[in-house]
Formats: sequence, C-alpha cells, structure tokens
Amino acid sequence: MKLGKTSALGIIFSLAIVATGCGQKTTTSNPDQAAAASTTAASEQKLNVEVSFYPMYDFTKNVAGDLADVHTLIPPAMEPHDWEPTPQDIASIEKADVLVYNGAGMESWMDQVKDSLSNSKLVQVEASQGISIREGGEEEEHDHDHADKATTTEEHDHADDASAKEGHEHDAATGEEHDHDHGGLDPHVWLSPALAIKEVRNIEAGLAKAAPQHADQFKQNADAYIVKLEALDQDFKAAVKDSKRKDFITQHAAFAYLAAEYGLQQVPIAGLSPEQEPSAAQMATVIDFAKEHKVKTIFFETLVSSKVSETIAKEIGAKTAVLNPIEGLTEDEVKAGKDYISVMRENMEALKLALNE
Ligand SMILES: [Zn+2]
Repeated sequence: MKLGKTSALGIIFSLAIVATGCGQKTTTSNPDQAAAASTTAASEQKLNVEVSFYPMYDFTKNVAGDLADVHTLIPPAMEPHDWEPTPQDIASIEKADVLVYNGAGMESWMDQVKDSLSNSKLVQVEASQGISIREGGEEEEHDHDHADKATTTEEHDHADDASAKEGHEHDAATGEEHDHDHGGLDPHVWLSPALAIKEVRNIEAGLAKAAPQHADQFKQNADAYIVKLEALDQDFKAAVKDSKRKDFITQHAAFAYLAAEYGLQQVPIAGLSPEQEPSAAQMATVIDFAKEHKVKTIFFETLVSSKVSETIAKEIGAKTAVLNPIEGLTEDEVKAGKDYISVMRENMEALKLALNE
C-alpha cells in the first residue's frame, strides 16, 4: 500500500518535470526574444531614445548629436502637465534603448508605464535625479500655515499672505516638515540653468550606459553644451542682480527654482500646473500683491490661455508679457528655430524689463 502511493507520487512528480521542461523549451524559442535581439543589433549604429517633453528633447539632442534618434512622446505644442500616453506611445517606449524624463512628478503617468514595460534593457534616465526637489507652491504652503496656527478662514488672511511672502523666500525646510497632499512636488527644475546642467549630466550618463563605445563623444558634446548653459547662468545673474524689484507675477508656479537661483520671488496666479485654475481668493491675493507692490507686468505663457493674466493686468492697469516655462514650443517657435537657450534668453530680457519698472 505504502509503496504504491510513493510510486504514484513519483509518477506525478516526473510528469511535472516533463511539463516544466516543455514550458522552458517554449520560452527559449519565444519569437518576442528573437525580435528583441534583432532590435538590439540594429541599434548598434544609432540609439533609439524616447523623451517625455521638449526640454528633455533639447538636452538629449545636444548630448547625443547624430548618435541617436531622439523622439518626443508629448507633441511639441502640447502642455505636458496633464498629458497621458496612448498604447502606441507605450509601444514606442517598449522598443527604445533609452527613456529620458524629467521626474519629480512632471510625468505623473511614468510609474504606471514603467510597471507595464517588459523591455529589461531599457536605460531609464530620470534627469532630475540628485537635485533637491521643492515641495508644493509657496502659495499653498502659506495657506496651510495660517490654517494650522489659527482657525481663521483662508480668505481672511490673504492680504497678509501676499506681504508675508517676502520673508518666506528660500524657506527650503518648510516643504519637508509638512505633508502637503494638495501641493505636490515642484518639477520645474529645468528653468534654472544651473540645474539644467545637472540634468544634462544625468542624460549624458544614461546615454553612455546605453552606448559605452560613444561615451567620450557624449562627454564632449555635453561639455560643449554646458559651456553655453554656464554662460546663460552668468548672464542671468548679471541681468537681474541690481534690479529695482525682486518679485514677478507668473501664470503658473513654474519659476520657483529660477527665482531661488537668482534671489527673486515668484508670485504665481495658478498652481504647479497651468490647468489648476486659480480660485477667486487666489486671484484677489495676486491683485492685492500687485497693487501693493506696484507691479506693472503680468506674465503669461504661450501654450495655455492668457485670459487670467489679462484679467488681472486689466484690473490693476498693468501690461502683459510672455515668460515661457518651456514646457513645449509652439509651431511658430519651432519654425523660428528657437530652443531652450534662446527662449531662456528671451525670459531673461523679459524679466529684466519687468523687474526694473
Ligand atoms: Zn509647469
């Protein structure tokens, strides 16, 4: 009896081994793997790089030169904050050698896409890695602060709020002490030329990892581009150093890193994403601030409606001008041959004017 049972188990066990063996055989002859192998062979000549949105494209192209085909997932003239990939976009990432994205919450779809990928050779570059990321908008931190300390309503505090901002500059610790679900991370690191340099170095490292045989060329290209970014940084510093005022009103909260870099103060109308419509109370805060500080220019952007900026400008008798967060380029901007550095230089001139009115 006992012996019979054992041999029966033995038979089942051997059957299981046979079954597993068959399964393994099928896996090794998987046509997908053969396809992956030929893709790898083809990319020996040129790297296939997918990037999320425009600044990642410009930085990557400057480092890669002719050694990569660089494709932008988010169409150039589209505001990237609320974009989401199609199945075709995910298929493109699946076929890529390198994926470059900003991170810090800019591409909110990225984690989910990464989880769905089976391309184990894909080199993923989070360009903002190693940069200390700011949390939330200062506007929101402030409201939160007041609500914590006193039980006054938010509307009540708004006049104080705007003037209190001045003393709030570079309060880096604030973000870490509180957990702001509504604020989120501030992804706009590329708008500080000094931080853009760090992103370029991260991209260089990713490309070199994917194509080590070209590492020297990538370094040479990155070095040459960084020389230009350093010049931009120096010129920016000089342009705003002795300006009459330090505050500027922007359409959405994209310029905190730039402001921190040059000792300026951003007063945003909308939140971290331009799609976050300002509340009536936020509008009132900005208007009060603008009146009190005699602001003469209200900035707007090229990829989203300028209606709110225009409304505020009209209300206080100010003019409007473009301050471009470079989240994408319009068709006209592309046609005119504009790029990250040229648009940043336009931003510099626009700020210089507005800060000296
Ligand atoms: Zn933005």
